[in-house]
Amino acid sequence: MSDTVLLICGPFTPEERGRLEGAHAALHIGGPDEIAALPEAARATIRAVAYKGHHPFGETQLAALPALGIVANYGVGYDAIDVAAASARGVKVTNTPDVLNDDVADLAVGMMLAFSRRLEDGAVLVRSGDWAQRALPLNRKFSGGRVGIVGLGRIGREIADRLAAFKMEIHYTSRSRKDTPGWTWHADPVALAAEVDWLVIALVGGPETQNHVGAEALAALGSEGVVVNISRGTTVDEAALLEALEQGTIRGAALDVFLNEPDIDPRFRSLDNAVLQPHQGSGTVETRRAMLGLQLDNITAFLAGRALLTAVN
Ligand code: NAP
Repeated sequence: MSDTVLLICGPFTPEERGRLEGAHAALHIGGPDEIAALPEAARATIRAVAYKGHHPFGETQLAALPALGIVANYGVGYDAIDVAAASARGVKVTNTPDVLNDDVADLAVGMMLAFSRRLEDGAVLVRSGDWAQRALPLNRKFSGGRVGIVGLGRIGREIADRLAAFKMEIHYTSRSRKDTPGWTWHADPVALAAEVDWLVIALVGGPETQNHVGAEALAALGSEGVVVNISRGTTVDEAALLEALEQGTIRGAALDVFLNEPDIDPRFRSLDNAVLQPHQGSGTVETRRAMLGLQLDNITAFLAGRALLTAVN
């Protein structure tokens, strides 16, 4: 039997594992913390890691895999992987950009519609049998609002394009101005928040964008403003966000991402001004297959000595 070259690390589905194992001699573990417990002989032959999840993958794991050449991430966001440590060891990191843009943008717009048209409350009313006894309070109009995108990257751009079709006025902040159809650039999240009703966060995660949207931006957004986050829980000051939601100093939030997922701050569960989703932005059959396909293509290219498709470092 050939040496195991691929370590499948994380909560992959049986279908996903089958595709990876069908392509390369592989070993599966539940997460990075299990690497240290693998026999030394098994660790010594691993040349590629297929990674899925949000647990840190850093120097400890890299040091335990002496033949490693690539960590291929399942997902565009690779903030769980210590890229600097990988680069220092000559290990390549890849991710899965673009193939998930549509799904994440769709979910952002879906959460915004759910918030403004009270879809969750409406469903509860219909299912309760109380429809004849009480009416749903009037909603707030969605089309034609003013939206600010924090981070007009691949996903942010898809969200803005969708919201333009809802006749929204589009504002954004990014480190550089983009070539956009008449959208308005602002220097930072605070200046952006002051001009809009919806603040949609589509930043990369990681230390550089930690608390990028803070208490000052939430204050500038004001009592009519709604925060939408589909990026990472780290990009917004979560303590300040919870405070603003509980005190009603902003109108509400629609969130797909949190700190400490899935054991999120229990204060979120009592809020009646928030739409909450379980980090399911890319969670469709089609997109998850495409993400696995791109991850596998990167691994296969590396093992064959070919150029990587979507290298991060
Ligand atoms: P992208 O194209 O790289 O765009 C990222 C944006 O972040 C860009 O606008 C960029 O600003 C900004 N940015 C990067 N570093 C920054 C810094 N140091 N300070 C300020 N802004 C910075 O990434 P993407 O493909 O759109 O993905 C964005 C993120 O979405 C991912 O990293 C991931 O965390 C998240 N995501 C979530 C889900 C989900 O299920 N909810 C699914 C997929 C992805 P510039 O325009 O100035 O370069």
